[in-house]
Amino acid sequence: MSVNYDVIIAGCGAAGLYAAINLPSELNILILCKRELSLCNSSLAQGGIAGVYNSPNDNIQYHQNDTLIAGSFKNNVDAVHTLVSEAAQDIEHIIDLGVEFDKKPDGTYHRTLEGGHSHHRIFHHADATGKEITTTLLENVQKLPNVTIMENTMMCSVKKTSTGYSALLKDIEENYTTANCHFMILATGGIGRVYQFTTNSAIATGDGITFAFEMGAKIKNLSYVQFHPTAFNNRATRECFLISEAVRGEGAYLLNCHKERFMHNYDERLELAPRDVVSHAIILESRKQNSTDFYLDISYKDSEFLKNRFPMIYKNLLDQGYDLTKEPVPIFPCQHYLMGGIDVDRNSETSLPNLYACGECSHTGVHGSNRLASNSLLEALVFSRHAANDIASKAASAPKDFEEAEFDPHIGAPHIPKGVRTETRKIMQNSYFVIPDKKAAAEGFKRVKEIREDLLSGGYLVDADYVLAKSIVTVAYIILSEVME
Ligand SMILES: Cc1cc2nc3c(=O)[nH]c(=O)nc-3n(C[C@H](O)[C@H](O)[C@H](O)COP(=O)(O)OP(=O)(O)OC[C@H]3O[C@@H](n4cnc5c(N)ncnc54)[C@H](O)[C@@H]3O)c2cc1C
Repeated sequence: MSVNYDVIIAGCGAAGLYAAINLPSELNILILCKRELSLCNSSLAQGGIAGVYNSPNDNIQYHQNDTLIAGSFKNNVDAVHTLVSEAAQDIEHIIDLGVEFDKKPDGTYHRTLEGGHSHHRIFHHADATGKEITTTLLENVQKLPNVTIMENTMMCSVKKTSTGYSALLKDIEENYTTANCHFMILATGGIGRVYQFTTNSAIATGDGITFAFEMGAKIKNLSYVQFHPTAFNNRATRECFLISEAVRGEGAYLLNCHKERFMHNYDERLELAPRDVVSHAIILESRKQNSTDFYLDISYKDSEFLKNRFPMIYKNLLDQGYDLTKEPVPIFPCQHYLMGGIDVDRNSETSLPNLYACGECSHTGVHGSNRLASNSLLEALVFSRHAANDIASKAASAPKDFEEAEFDPHIGAPHIPKGVRTETRKIMQNSYFVIPDKKAAAEGFKRVKEIREDLLSGGYLVDADYVLAKSIVTVAYIILSEVME
């Protein structure tokens, strides 16, 4: 079976949904979501969305400077300028669409502070901003008659055709469909599941990056991986619950195994240094103390304030046996975000014509080597709108027909060998976690290359296990090859 659409968007997070909202209503659009609609990194965002919008004491130059400093000036300055100067427009748009941000008693917006920001400029919905944004965007998209949403439908492979792109799709009942389009937007999110410990949801396996890489699109700075310093440390689960930077923004202290503050030995910005600096400091302190016991302590603050400001974090930690209003909470860094990705221009177009990428899978260059907190939801909105506008400008001259590529899902062929994902995750955790280990990376690369070659040539059944394993291994392969350069 096959279907044709003007635009296919792979991904139902903030980037994919906002692209659909901004595309012209006369285009026939398909949005794919490989698991449940609510499962994505966007809906996990706690801290908020950064932006200078009706802020008398702040300005876009300050926001730009903070972004460049956090990114070690490895950012694309033009892209950063676009990000900060267009923030107001998209924040206002999502408010008009129904997103509610917290307000102060005088009716003005409450803006919080996070590491690396010189001004209070983070708009938030308590500590569940991502859920508020994605739920509202989804409600709006579900009302659009020109948009079809396919939940639990995985894009398994993509090929370029003479009229655009063809994709092999697989639904939850293992039915395969070919979908053809003139324009494709990859908005498939991050790569957290390439690591043993991450804050990311189960969907974050780098599928879009893998499809783009396989088609020959340019991938840039995939080794720019962000490790968040304060994930709750229960030393067990793969998906680590994040304790937002906003908790440090409200004054939390970082403590070592002796329950002593230590950041003054590493950076004058103390707990509010950018994430990479704090994660590095924790790893160096852990080597010095020979202990991985670290804590976040905000128990000295008013407990009612903390319960109202961080209701979701408070409840989640309580469920895990910790009361943040009364005691220090165990934390440790883990994988959190990808700054690199599929390289795009300022229209969010990749190096392949009519193939777009936005959100976490893309590399716009705004983040440099380290993302400033709360700039990623903003990037997802601003640059998915750019993709939508560029497609709108080209749609009239798109071909009238749809060429269809051939795919072979190897029905009846064997499944991939067991343990591929676990082995790759261990390699990444041991060789490239906060402070890279070049020797381990070189050894890991050899093994990852072997596994990848086997997956590509083994003739295995193209099921979900295969697609996810191939993505994880391909992302690890690209990251480690960059680390060894
Ligand atoms: C715990 C946590 C807290 C965060 N807090 C903040 C914050 O406070 N502020 C901030 O700015 N950023 C924050 N971030 C980062 C931010 O949430 C993400 O970078 C951003 O939301 C990514 O959006 P996205 O649309 O690119 O991807 P996602 O929201 O992850 O969406 C990806 C979509 O792609 C789909 N998909 C993937 N592969 C396929 C496939 N093969 N076929 C079909 N569909 C596919 C998935 O099903 C999903 O719908 C946080 C991230 C995490 C994990």
